[in-house]
Amino acid sequence: AAAAPSNFIRNIVDEDNRNSKWSGRVETRFPPEPNGYLHIGHAKSICLNFGIARDYGGVCHLRFDDTNPEKESVEYVESIVDAVRWLGFDWAKDGKTHLYYASDYYDRLYEYAELLIERGKAYVDSQSAEQMRATRGSLTEPGTPSPYRDRTPEENLDLFRRMKAGEFEEGAHVLRAKIDMSSPNLNMRDPALYRIRYAHHYRTGDRWCVYPMYDYTHCISDALEGITHSLCTLEFEDHRPLYDWILDELADAGVFTRPLPQQIEFSRLNLTYAITSKRKLLQLVTEGHVDGWDDPRMPTIVGVRRRGFTPDSIRLFCDRIGVTKVDSWIDMSVFEGALRDDLDDKAPRTAAVLDPVKLIIDNFPADLAEPCTAPVHPHHPERGERTFPITRELWIERDDFMETPPKGYFRLFPGNKVRLRYGYVIECTGAEKDEHGNVVAVHCNYFPDSRSGTEGANNYKVKGNIHWVSATHALPVEVRLYDRLFKEAQPDAGGRDFLEALNPDSKRVVQAYLEPGGEKMQPEDRCQFERHGYFVADRYDSKPGKPVFNRIVGLRDSWGK
Ligand code: ATP
Ligand code: MG
Ligand code: MG
Repeated sequence: AAAAPSNFIRNIVDEDNRNSKWSGRVETRFPPEPNGYLHIGHAKSICLNFGIARDYGGVCHLRFDDTNPEKESVEYVESIVDAVRWLGFDWAKDGKTHLYYASDYYDRLYEYAELLIERGKAYVDSQSAEQMRATRGSLTEPGTPSPYRDRTPEENLDLFRRMKAGEFEEGAHVLRAKIDMSSPNLNMRDPALYRIRYAHHYRTGDRWCVYPMYDYTHCISDALEGITHSLCTLEFEDHRPLYDWILDELADAGVFTRPLPQQIEFSRLNLTYAITSKRKLLQLVTEGHVDGWDDPRMPTIVGVRRRGFTPDSIRLFCDRIGVTKVDSWIDMSVFEGALRDDLDDKAPRTAAVLDPVKLIIDNFPADLAEPCTAPVHPHHPERGERTFPITRELWIERDDFMETPPKGYFRLFPGNKVRLRYGYVIECTGAEKDEHGNVVAVHCNYFPDSRSGTEGANNYKVKGNIHWVSATHALPVEVRLYDRLFKEAQPDAGGRDFLEALNPDSKRVVQAYLEPGGEKMQPEDRCQFERHGYFVADRYDSKPGKPVFNRIVGLRDSWGK
């Protein structure tokens, strides 16, 4: 296997290992909230967390960070499990499955909150949400302590227990950490730890009516699981003092032993022509702008999978973009390039005509089907050859013929010679048109001594080389030509309505003709359609003997050209 690329997080792990901070143990976690399908941004976090665990002989936990009862569901949990597995990772080590749910910690989280109260480190605030916002201060103004801040531990404990018992309405009280209302860091101004919510949770049902906040839950979950390095995106940098404060207090109280997990932030992935916000992706789905979470244009993992991207190409992409602390945009062409680089070597070649027009070889015997051969892969002769017949009537691409060609056009026009790939040289004699002037058939004659791979072939020097399929043997197939979902590189930049940036031509469905043999392709088989790009047999719509294709990417980056 190739050496893992270096990044600053690996340097930290190396340093910890040198100092025996964790006695060589490396445990990371990927902590999605099951409130939507994972997207390509999550893939970066998955590759980073699971990749580090793998390379250091550690383990990465899959943890569902499920403390927002309203938005979470089993459907999302299952989709996340599938996505991480599909990307090639798992969470087992030494026979133990490291799959966790923050909701399994509710009892302990509650118990530790009582402990903080007893130690004078947390209090029940009975101000309204508006009052709390108004007294929080700003970056230039310190906050104002709540009038309830000096309640005694006994009073706080009593109120907190009654919050849990369901005696109060939502919003009547919150539990807050007692830290510092004049801290320059707003996250340290007595942040909320628990709120009252009468909501059904997809796992704990109606058992709880107080739910812990993200910041409180996250660090404790990490410590309970023995996480060594807790990797998260940069927006949590300002939350790190709170992460450390909570764990320090609980270590002082004897709940956890030191060293405590270390939070390390890295820059999130922003990908041009895509959106990486679950909320906005959900909006695309619910408003019907796409055909579901797994629409091949969606930057979700299920979407890029259905589009035809491979797990290898996604891991390659994540390696290439690296991990830094500087927010930036990665161009979509980098993602597409990783797919091409992965499939160029793997994908078998085949011919497909996407915009067909008839080519009639007038001097070719009408009842002859002469076998032609071509390599399955031009750089891998060991993969064998494919055989397909040439016949009198073929399908070729409509734009491989022009009645009056512009300068530099070397394909078919009256009087010009081209080679039919793996077949014969032909000379165009003209075209038939319908009453609207549309070309309905192109005519030509072939040179029987010009067959590819024979001596005679060398006597013909032609500049054009076009692909074709036999009109009598080709397989008619549906092909979906996908393009980028957005017209703008940064569809949601600057608070703009990203829906206005939708590309109206992002999906085109055509009836194409495929080289015979294509009927054997199975769902998720990928191939290169020569001269066109990489295609996949759709995992859901392909039927035995009747594949339906999605274009993954073209052969080269032609966006905007
Ligand atoms: P969204 O804002 O789309 O809802 P999120 O960050 O709230 O995303 P989580 O389910 O909490 O979604 O994310 C799980 C993990 O994936 C977190 O550790 C988060 O930092 C990471 N992550 C989310 N989006 C990105 C991204 N664009 N690039 C890198 N990591 C990401
Ligand atoms: Mg989140
Ligand atoms: Mg979010």
